[in-house]
Amino acid sequence: MTQGTTMATVYVTGTLASYAARADRSRGRVHDEPPPTTRTSFQRDRDRIIHCGAFRRLEYKTQVFVNHEGDMFRTRLTHTLEVAQIARSVARNLQLDTDLAEAISLAHDLGHTPFGHAGQEELNHCMRDYGGFEHNLQSLRIVDKLEERYGAFDGLNLTFETREGIIKHCTPENARTLGELGKRFIEGGSPSLEAQLANFADEIAYNNHDVDDGLRAGLITVAQLQQTDLFARHWHAVDAEMPGISARRMIHETIRRMISVLIFDLTQTSLDRIRDVAPADVDDVRSAPPLIAFSEAIQKESSVLKQFLFEHVYRHYQVNRTISKSRLILRRLFQAFVENPSLLPPDFQTDTASDAVQARRVADYIASMTDRYAMREYRRLFEVTEV
Ligand code: MG
Repeated sequence: MTQGTTMATVYVTGTLASYAARADRSRGRVHDEPPPTTRTSFQRDRDRIIHCGAFRRLEYKTQVFVNHEGDMFRTRLTHTLEVAQIARSVARNLQLDTDLAEAISLAHDLGHTPFGHAGQEELNHCMRDYGGFEHNLQSLRIVDKLEERYGAFDGLNLTFETREGIIKHCTPENARTLGELGKRFIEGGSPSLEAQLANFADEIAYNNHDVDDGLRAGLITVAQLQQTDLFARHWHAVDAEMPGISARRMIHETIRRMISVLIFDLTQTSLDRIRDVAPADVDDVRSAPPLIAFSEAIQKESSVLKQFLFEHVYRHYQVNRTISKSRLILRRLFQAFVENPSLLPPDFQTDTASDAVQARRVADYIASMTDRYAMREYRRLFEVTEV
C-alpha cells in the first residue's frame, strides 16, 4: 500500500454549496495517482501549476505593454494573480471551491505567446496550414503534454475539472480531438461554476488594470475615460467625497470602486440565477445555461469600457508600432525554424517527415518564449554583427 492511501487526510475545506465542484468527487486525472494526503485534488492542481516552468515564464510575457516598456505595467503574471484574487473572492461568496477557481485562473494564460495578442495572431497566421494556433488550446497542451516534471507522465496530470476550466472556447473541429473535454462544444452545455467564474474574473481584471496602465502610459486621459459611464460615475463620486486628493489617488480610488461594483454585481446576479435553476450538483450546472453573469446594466457598462479600451489603448498608434514589430519577430522566427529545423534546440526537432508535426513543435517553441527571449533569438538568428 502506498503512503498516500495510509495517511489520514488533514486538509480542511470551507462550506461548499451543493452546486460547487467537489474535489473528493473529481472525475479524476488521465493517469491514476494516489489521492493527495495533505491537500485536496484541486489544491494539488493549483500547486502543480505554480511550480511549472510555463507559469514562471508569465513574468516576462506581455499583457498589453511589453515588459521592457516599464516596470509598473501589468505582465501576464501579475494579470494572472489579479484574476486569481478576484476569482477566489467571488468563489468564496458563492460557496464554490476557491482552490479550483484559483487553479483555473492561474493556468488560464499559460499558453500565451510572447508579445500578447499580437504574438497569438501572428503565430495563428503562420500555422494556418497546420491547424492554426490558439492560446487557450496551447494552455491545455502545456498542462497535458509539454511540461516535463514527473517521471510517470507528460504534463501536470491535472484533474478533469481544472482542464475543463482551461478550455474556455474551442471550435467544433478542435473539440473533436479533445474527447470528454470537448463534448460541451459539440453537444452544448456549460463548464463548472468555478470555470465560468474564472472567465469573468479575467474580464474584471483586464478591464480595470488596462485603465490604470493606459493612463500611466499616457495613451488615454481621464477626460476621455469620462465617455464610459462606469468610470465617470465612480470618478465623480470620489471627487465629491474626497475633494483635493492627488490625481494618482483619484484614479486608484475610482478603479477600486469599479472593481468592487463589478464583483458585487457578479455575485448578486449569479446567486439569483443559481437560485432560479437550483442545481443539485455540478452535473446539473453542466447541463444548465451559464449561471455566472453580470446584470444586464453592468454587462453593458463593462462592454462599453472594453470597447473604449480596444479603440483607445489596444489600437493606439504607439501600441500598433509595437504590435507590428512583435509580429515581424515571430514571423521571421517561424519561417526560419520551419525552413531549417536544424536551427532549433534538439528538444524541438522531430524525426518525422510530417511538416505539420514539425511546425507544431516550432509553434510550441515560439509560444514558450518570453518577450525578451524571443528578441534574443531574433538577434542570434538575424543580426550579422558577429557570427
Ligand atoms: Mg487573461
